Amino acid sequence: MDFNSHNDGVVLVAVGLVNALTPGERRGRPFPVPADLPAAATEGLRNGYPNHREVGEGDAGELAEVAERLRVVFEAVSSGDVDTAAGQINRLLDESRARPRLDRHDGEPWHLHFHGPGGTMAGDWAASCATGLAIVLGSEFHDRLGVCTAPHCDRVYVDVSRNGTRRFCSTPCQNRVKTAAFRARTRTA
Ligand SMILES: [Zn+2]
Repeated sequence: MDFNSHNDGVVLVAVGLVNALTPGERRGRPFPVPADLPAAATEGLRNGYPNHREVGEGDAGELAEVAERLRVVFEAVSSGDVDTAAGQINRLLDESRARPRLDRHDGEPWHLHFHGPGGTMAGDWAASCATGLAIVLGSEFHDRLGVCTAPHCDRVYVDVSRNGTRRFCSTPCQNRVKTAAFRARTRTA
């Protein structure tokens, strides 16, 4: 996708948090609330920032709440209801009171961060993810957020393919659907 790389990372964090923290179904199996919430939250953040430090218990609980609210955005875009997605993002921007600020750390050049006012990790990520998704939704790539279309899977994705033809959360789901279609064809043949 043609955003700046920092925003891509933030959007991948939004995807990671939804997929790691919201219960539902994953690749054909039930996906319950994670027993180890801090590990799941850490995994979600590392989807965009592979070296992110480990998350504590309190932050993990807050991030799980943020993830539930982010899921609404993916589901709305996926069902073609961009108005609902935009409304939800605006609510998240309001609540997180996202404010832009140039930061420079870890040897990186100056880059734009979006912080919440509370200074909590979850609050900052809520602000960042809301802003990252707002940039996507306000761009020509507004339909690039999706929910997996494979049976019994509701994990989400951001489609960074050139043609925007992605339909699945993962290669395993794509293969499940391909295999099922192949079996159906050989049965009728
Ligand atoms: Zn899937």
